[in-house]
Amino acid sequence: MIFTYIFLGFLLLGLFTQFFLAQRQIRSASEHQNEVPKGFENAISLADHQKAARYTIAKLKLSWMETLTSQILLITLTMFGLLYTIHQELLHFFAAGVWQQIALLISLSLLSSLVDLPFSWYKQFRLEESFGFNRMTQQLFWLDFLKGSLLSLVIGIPLLWVVLTLMQGAGQYWWIFAWAFLVAFILIATWVAPVLIMPLFNKFKPLDEGDLKTSIQALLDRCGFVSKGLFVMDGSKRSAHGNAYFTGIGKNKRIVFFDTLIEKLSPSEIEAVLAHELGHFKKNHVRKRMLMTFLMSLIGLALLGWLSNQVWFYESLGVFPEIDGNNAGLALALFSLAIPVFTFFITPLGSLLSRKHEFEADAFAAEKTNPQHLISALIKLYQDNAATLTPDRLYSAFYDSHPPAPIRIAHLHELGAA
Ligand SMILES: [Zn+2]
Repeated sequence: MIFTYIFLGFLLLGLFTQFFLAQRQIRSASEHQNEVPKGFENAISLADHQKAARYTIAKLKLSWMETLTSQILLITLTMFGLLYTIHQELLHFFAAGVWQQIALLISLSLLSSLVDLPFSWYKQFRLEESFGFNRMTQQLFWLDFLKGSLLSLVIGIPLLWVVLTLMQGAGQYWWIFAWAFLVAFILIATWVAPVLIMPLFNKFKPLDEGDLKTSIQALLDRCGFVSKGLFVMDGSKRSAHGNAYFTGIGKNKRIVFFDTLIEKLSPSEIEAVLAHELGHFKKNHVRKRMLMTFLMSLIGLALLGWLSNQVWFYESLGVFPEIDGNNAGLALALFSLAIPVFTFFITPLGSLLSRKHEFEADAFAAEKTNPQHLISALIKLYQDNAATLTPDRLYSAFYDSHPPAPIRIAHLHELGAA
């Protein structure tokens, strides 16, 4: 089976790449940990700089363990036939058909979330805790897990039912119908998520009247931005890390600030962070990203449409389908397992595009507000998130969705001078 070797080859190459890049990043953080980089001497203490190095290294080591575990699970499911065994076991309980396939896909996601669970628990209550970032209680952690699992069942089962039914009965071009359905689903979900889903996990309060709200409203008017309101989210019940984001689409957009962000930044810094986020909207990054997702899913579904008819695709990944049987569930399961092994290698393209967007949003913010405010906000955020100021060049080029702090800040200085 030549595809078995191709799959294994990519998997090993991916593991090697991740290990190699993580080692470089660890070396870069630890080699530079005894000196605060030039330009940051006044803003960041040596103790904070060293903490950032230790935090970066600890996170990398944990995520490497997680990657290794998930790849072992992947090989067990495919090469060692675990997926096929689960499939056959389920045939004792369900008649062959859509419900058996749904059960297969749910078992698969249950299995992977059980494997992830110890890692997310450890990350929250050991790693984040030891650096003083955890604000979550055990109770909240398990409640989140329960709610998240129930929610994915409630949303996932009908979604799978539609897709599997189309795969089975809509003919050769089922994937075009499935794609249209998924696009409609994503648009509706994005529309209702701020109102129906996010409140299940967090409380959202309208931003208090006052100077901050007045200056933010002035900025929104200046940029011609319409939204359904400014909200403060109780992010502090989970983590000390601060953030701000937009949700929703069209006129249903909301701006959400973590309470932790409001605690840490001054009003003019918050305004600068918001101006950056507005930049993403005004430069159409949000729309472009969504169109890109739609395009990628069309390509993905077309590929799945073709692969699901190739016997070698199943057999080389440890599954033996019935010739005339209902193999839609198996095809979907194998596809979702195998495809990330290949798409991992386009990560740098996505990162490059994302960094380009960050520069554009920074430029927009520098136009609408004083760049000095964004610079001081960024320094506070980097310090607060204990992000390393000395990333490895290759690691950063491969993964970083945001340009490294020194480069980003140097850019803002240039914009300020111009
Ligand atoms: Zn951004």
